[in-house]
Amino acid sequence: MSEMPEKSQVMSELPYPYEAQASQALFDRAAAVTPGGVNSPVRAFRAVGGTPRFMVSGTGPYLTDADGREYVDLVCSWGPMILGHAHPEVIAAVQDAVARGTSFGTPGEGEVALAEEMVARIEPLEQVRLVSSGTEATMSAIRLARGFTRRAKVIKFAGCYHGHVDALLAAAGSGVATFALPDTPGVTGAQAGDTIVLPYNDLDAVRAAFAAHPGEIACVITEASPGNMGVVPPLPGFNQGLKDACAANGALYISDEVMTGFRTSRAGWFGVDGVRPDLMTFGKVMGGGFPAAAFGGRADVMAHLAPAGPVYQAGTLSGNPVATAAGLAQLRLLDDAAYEKVDAVSERIRSLVTEALTKEGVAHTLQNASNMFSVFFTDRPVRNYEDAKAQESFRYTAFFHSLLENGVYLPPSSFESWFVSTAHDDRAVQRIADALPAAARAAAEATA
Ligand SMILES: *Cc1c(COP(=O)(O)O)cnc(C)c1O
Repeated sequence: MSEMPEKSQVMSELPYPYEAQASQALFDRAAAVTPGGVNSPVRAFRAVGGTPRFMVSGTGPYLTDADGREYVDLVCSWGPMILGHAHPEVIAAVQDAVARGTSFGTPGEGEVALAEEMVARIEPLEQVRLVSSGTEATMSAIRLARGFTRRAKVIKFAGCYHGHVDALLAAAGSGVATFALPDTPGVTGAQAGDTIVLPYNDLDAVRAAFAAHPGEIACVITEASPGNMGVVPPLPGFNQGLKDACAANGALYISDEVMTGFRTSRAGWFGVDGVRPDLMTFGKVMGGGFPAAAFGGRADVMAHLAPAGPVYQAGTLSGNPVATAAGLAQLRLLDDAAYEKVDAVSERIRSLVTEALTKEGVAHTLQNASNMFSVFFTDRPVRNYEDAKAQESFRYTAFFHSLLENGVYLPPSSFESWFVSTAHDDRAVQRIADALPAAARAAAEATA
């Protein structure tokens, strides 16, 4: 561990960087040309303070920043890098694809092969349409649901994040949760007016909404297992209850698997709970670190999509040959053994975290959805967004900075899932284990 700093060096005052001069210089340059210095808000570290680390390279479970410091990565690009960074077989597939040209604006075999792989893994996924981001996937799925049912209203849950789709930026999680914005300027009353926001894990609220709006609700969209308010799995029967309420009322059940898809099992969260959605959305893992995402599901519903049907949807870079090559290479490597590995390392890290926090007497609740997990600084179970917001986030700030200074990179917000990969080996786990006691102490000593 020669690259790790001496203990005396790490005792700088939080949250100021002690060895992030190059990152700070880049952040200053970025702030001059980009709002807030970042291209996606949570990256700016505003929830935890301090200098965002500008990363220059990644290999396996490690990231290296502009100052040359190495971190064990527990963000994994917010989920996509389930095989670790720069996996040789994924890189080879990408290089092979790039050398043949990067975009044609025509159909190609790679997108067919990726769609076939997805459809083969997930039984209710009969047809898919490829897009470039999770946001596009959920936006298009909602449009399709409205076009198919000829209804306007959408039910979503507080704390669930479905990308920055106008109609879905009401009580959303992720960056919106981080900033505690219940809503955002720029979304009009008309755009959000058909969105009904309900508390998560509350089937009575769902039934009441259907009763209050007969024949008006096009769909219910939910994260298959939410990871954007921290990890808050559905209570037993919740997803089935959603499915049943939709079926009874002529609405579509949309399961957003952008985060969980091909992550929580080889068939995503469907592979865990087996509840059949009408439509599903995907992104993150299926792109292998490139911009590839998708929505799909029942063939009779997908048949309403242009050019087969009247609901319009399109994309210049949809099904991009480089992105589909990366995604396909990654999915083909994700066999049962790979998931066993990711699940096992997740479990090891979870128990190390619990052990360290318990030893320091820090009230916490660690929740997981197969290998996705997060820590809430509260002793109460977290079942919805209100519970998540009740945690002592100031403890996370201290915990985060201590780990960062000791070479472990956590999500820079207490409202995000942590992610691990097949590349998180004994050495990476040991580094986390070595860094945890000081972080737990920092969490214990933190004050609001
Ligand atoms: C990340 C995420 C999205 C948005 O995907 P982008 O590619 O960032 O647009 C949508 N839904 C869920 C559940 C996500 O985690």
